[in-house]
Amino acid sequence: MKKLIIVTVIIMLASCATVKHSTLPAEERSARAAGSQTALSPEGRPDQPVSEAKTVTAGDSSSMAAAEDQDQLILATLWYQKSAEMRALFYQCFRNAEIALKENLEMQRQKWSAPEPLRAESQTVSALSAGETEGAALASRPRTGPIKPAAVVLDIDETLLDNSPFQGWQIIEKKGFNDDDWVRWVDLARARPLPGAVEFTRYADSLGVEVFYVSNRTVKEMGPTIKNMTEWGFANADSTHMLLKETVSSKVERRELIEKDYEIILLVGDNLADLSGAYEKRGPDFGFDAVNTERHLFGTRYIVLPNPMYGNWLNDLLRTAPGGTEREKLIKLLETF
Ligand SMILES: [Mg+2]
Repeated sequence: MKKLIIVTVIIMLASCATVKHSTLPAEERSARAAGSQTALSPEGRPDQPVSEAKTVTAGDSSSMAAAEDQDQLILATLWYQKSAEMRALFYQCFRNAEIALKENLEMQRQKWSAPEPLRAESQTVSALSAGETEGAALASRPRTGPIKPAAVVLDIDETLLDNSPFQGWQIIEKKGFNDDDWVRWVDLARARPLPGAVEFTRYADSLGVEVFYVSNRTVKEMGPTIKNMTEWGFANADSTHMLLKETVSSKVERRELIEKDYEIILLVGDNLADLSGAYEKRGPDFGFDAVNTERHLFGTRYIVLPNPMYGNWLNDLLRTAPGGTEREKLIKLLETF
């Protein structure tokens, strides 16, 4: 009898141990999933679209796919954060931007100080090789009416401010992009400036070129964005010079608004759509034709900064590829031999 009781107790203990072993990990997964949904967004909207959040939930295969999708971000984000090449590229681009800005400013001043016949000739020269794109139109616009002061237009995210810690957080938390998490990051006003960015805006300002920021951060994010950029010393980090998104993602209208009073002599961004409306719809060739057409403007009128983490380039790839997870889609697009 005593033996039977001992055996029964051992079996019960073993059974409990088995149950504990088989259930706790699931509970932990659920808790982690719940934690990842709420830890950084206690005041998050309950009506947040689930499709955008892509939060991992235990046992949810589609959410697990979302978690897997973040893997392709690891190398891109590490390259952005830890490669000296990235730092060198930013210095290189902003150095190029300084040279181009000074040359364009000098050309603008010469043009306006030239006698009328030469001014007309200058217009013809500036229109050489220009297509019908927005960028070319800006470069060759007829010089009629009053002389306008020069302006430079810059994007903000991944052009001037480094949001890669937000990307890193998304990877660790296995979350896709969603507006609530993004707003929480922006509200922290903790983004660091990218290499050479602050110096470039101050250089432009020192030359008398008006610095404008055209970004698809929303107007609601104006306050923390100004705070963030002011703390780092960016020139003109104020609401007069910051044209953020109200309802329309295209930046064409906001650039046109600036052009009413200024002549844009340089544009800087990590997304080609920061430079010209010609790149907003890239088509099946990924925008290669449009870039080839305007190749004379890159490094002279347009400065493009590297961003391997996200952008219209990636959105277009994902739209182009046939079904599956993001990773499966991207692999199908790889060129091999
Ligand atoms: Mg950007």
